[in-house]
Amino acid sequence: MTKTGKQKAVFIDRDGTLIEEVNYLSRLADLRFFSYTNEAIRILKENGFLIIVVTNQSGIGRRIFEEAAMHEIHEQIQIDLTDPLDAFYFCPHLPDGGCDCRKPKVGMIEAAQRDFQIDLESSWMIGDKAIDVETGFNAQIKTALVLTGYGQNAVKQLQRKPDLVAEDLLEAVKSITNFK
Ligand SMILES: [Mg+2]
Ligand SMILES: [Zn+2]
Repeated sequence: MTKTGKQKAVFIDRDGTLIEEVNYLSRLADLRFFSYTNEAIRILKENGFLIIVVTNQSGIGRRIFEEAAMHEIHEQIQIDLTDPLDAFYFCPHLPDGGCDCRKPKVGMIEAAQRDFQIDLESSWMIGDKAIDVETGFNAQIKTALVLTGYGQNAVKQLQRKPDLVAEDLLEAVKSITNFK
């Protein structure tokens, strides 16, 4: 809880940030955690953050895989991590589908705000793409870019600097939990 009586949250991109980037991940056999994922999540939990995954999954809209396959992956992530994540929000739509949830839009963050009491001022968005950082800007929360996944490219594309650029999720989490 923060002074507002609400909880601080970390919104985490899935592919390339929480787990290794796999093009249109849909098979459990291709699910790969980073060596530090479990530790990063544990540190966030110890520091009282809600941990919320926000992921664009246009492979569903493109009919590359079924929504059920994605849920199976999310269930496996929960099984494999020591500390369960608080929620997953996903956008299944096509990039030009005009939805309100696909990052860099903030529909998934707004959905989380309906489901949890979130103190946005103490909250963060962590991701490996420019659209993740832009999502954080659009939601007016703090932003961290990680250099895993597509992060090396994203760092060159960014128009506006994030609050933090970190090697990976663990380094980002260590900085966030000490952030003043
Ligand atoms: Mg990503
Ligand atoms: Zn959407």
